[in-house]
Amino acid sequence: MKFGDLSIRLKLVALLGVSAAMALVVSAILTLVLTFFSVRDESLRHLRQTSDIARDNLTATLAFRDNASATRMLGSLASNPRILAAVIADEESKQFSIYVSPAASPSDVTRYLAEVAALARERQADLSMQQGFSAIHFGYMFAVSPIVFDGRTIGNLTLLSDNVALRERINAFVLMQVLVSVLTLVIIAFISIRLQRVFTTPIFHIIETIRTIAQTKNYAVSVDTIQNDEFKVLYTHFNDMIAEIRERDTRLNHLATTDSLTGLANRRHAMDVMQTMVTRARRKQEPFGLVMLDIDHFKRINDQYGHPVGDLVLKAVATTLSRAAREIDLVARTGGEEFLVLCDNSDVEATHQIAERMRAAIEQAEVSGENAMPLKVTVSAGVHASVPESEDFALSLALVDAALYQAKQNGRNRVVNWEE
Ligand code: GH3
Ligand code: MG
Ligand code: MG
Repeated sequence: MKFGDLSIRLKLVALLGVSAAMALVVSAILTLVLTFFSVRDESLRHLRQTSDIARDNLTATLAFRDNASATRMLGSLASNPRILAAVIADEESKQFSIYVSPAASPSDVTRYLAEVAALARERQADLSMQQGFSAIHFGYMFAVSPIVFDGRTIGNLTLLSDNVALRERINAFVLMQVLVSVLTLVIIAFISIRLQRVFTTPIFHIIETIRTIAQTKNYAVSVDTIQNDEFKVLYTHFNDMIAEIRERDTRLNHLATTDSLTGLANRRHAMDVMQTMVTRARRKQEPFGLVMLDIDHFKRINDQYGHPVGDLVLKAVATTLSRAAREIDLVARTGGEEFLVLCDNSDVEATHQIAERMRAAIEQAEVSGENAMPLKVTVSAGVHASVPESEDFALSLALVDAALYQAKQNGRNRVVNWEE
């Protein structure tokens, strides 16, 4: 799984968490290093002080070669459990007196003392100049204090100590640092989980809206946010875009279902609506009525007055048919000068009434062309109505067409019901 494939939510939490963790680690390492040096310096200083005080007390024992007192005084260092060993050496670097803690490993002490003695020889000049020195080595630390009598260096005191106190302090510090870091990380994780919502909620909201639109094809939606940031801009543009799609959808839908000359339903839309009506009528066992109308001798109007006047007549006929229709009927222009009326829940009588009302209304109406005299046209109509026996309405269309043909045959300007 690549980082890029993670959800935005996880990415944000990871981003916040990792940057906080890195900052914590860097600051912990820095503090640890600083603490180590300061604790080390303090431990060494403390050892030096102890060594210097012991040296002051011991000066006389070396000056007067009082070995018994020296041994007794060194023995008092046993009160400090961190002291591993103490050695008084004379001018020739010979051991004058030694104390080794019973808790210390003799072989380690021997090795440490040999190392310190070697260092003391190297720094003999410092000691002669009455300068002590100290250092921390792996496993122990030491301090060497010159023993000065009558203004002359007559030997030195070496104090060996373990690093336990130093280690304990560093350990305690690391433990505290880890605890603080873990606590901080928990708080940061909590905050980042809360904080990511500010970014992800608006994104998820818009994704959810897009998904809903894709599934339902319903563009009558908009998104809203209380955040006044770039998401607000995104939301505004998204809403504008959806509004434009909605508008275009409505326009396209209108274009696809409407006859451009008359504004009536076109043939395709009429067939769709008819399918719905037939299905419903069949389920409810209700009659479904059809009227097919055709303008009589329409060719003559075109021939006599021209095509534009023919168009005016078509528009006027469409308006008259719409007015004469009931609210629930659908009037469509299905051909050049041919119209179809779908009459929901209408038996033969009801459908015939509608057709007759339409025929009479057209007979009454007058159409005035631009320079033409008022025109009068008539229509012939076929009627068919039945409770549909199947979903297929092709037969109904053929039968209503046959009735219309009969109306033309019978002399036009009349309504004929289809009969067996
Ligand atoms: P009938 O009474 O038998 O129906 O005779 P008719 O002249 O009405 O029938 P016919 O089918 O011979 O002629 C239909 C005419 O309708 C032919 C065509 O030029 C005209 N027409 C078809 N569509 C349009 C149109 O959109 N505008 C105009 N102005 N005329 C059209
Ligand atoms: Mg005609
Ligand atoms: Mg015709």
